[in-house]
Amino acid sequence: LSSFYGVSKEKIYVGNSSDEVLSFTWLAFFGRGEKVVYPDITYSFYTVYSQLYEVEECIVSLKDDYTMDLETMSKIPAKAVVITNPNAPTGIALTLEEIENFLKNNQDKLVVVDEAYVDFGNESAIKLIDKYDNLLVVQTFSKSRSLAGLRIGFAMGNKELINGLKVIKDQFNPYTLDSISNLV
Ligand SMILES: *Cc1c(COP(=O)(O)O)cnc(C)c1O
Repeated sequence: LSSFYGVSKEKIYVGNSSDEVLSFTWLAFFGRGEKVVYPDITYSFYTVYSQLYEVEECIVSLKDDYTMDLETMSKIPAKAVVITNPNAPTGIALTLEEIENFLKNNQDKLVVVDEAYVDFGNESAIKLIDKYDNLLVVQTFSKSRSLAGLRIGFAMGNKELINGLKVIKDQFNPYTLDSISNLV
């Protein structure tokens, strides 16, 4: 991953599926009662994590054309925002410029960009992780790479964010990936 994306290893966290990486993200960065913003509709697992970890979800409806209402999402005072890009199941993508503008307007929040389907068309926000400390990009081997059975998911972001995920992993299940997945 490091050589493929040109990102140093300390900025990469690899876990047992992106579902696990997302779950650890909730556990690492969102405290009980803190707010996390995401649109409706989006990936349905976010609500499950919020309920499990007792994080308050702030759900912002999509606009009439099914695009995200980024303006309203920016205005909510919250710990974090989760954006699926392209969104699922609408398939509508935000441009890198829209993501960057959102990051600029939300520097006080952690912005998680779930890019499960990014390889099917839009540009990844991975190239912005050096510029924005508040950006965590999450991807998976399950969709475009057709390797769902290997359960490999990963996150890229600044060293502190990646270390936050590692701390959770070490306390939750230090050996999340099997040895075959570790060879890929
Ligand atoms: C499929 C999917 C995931 C989870 O994929 P894993 O198989 O757990 O890596 C996460 N987010 C979105 C938006 C998905 O569609």
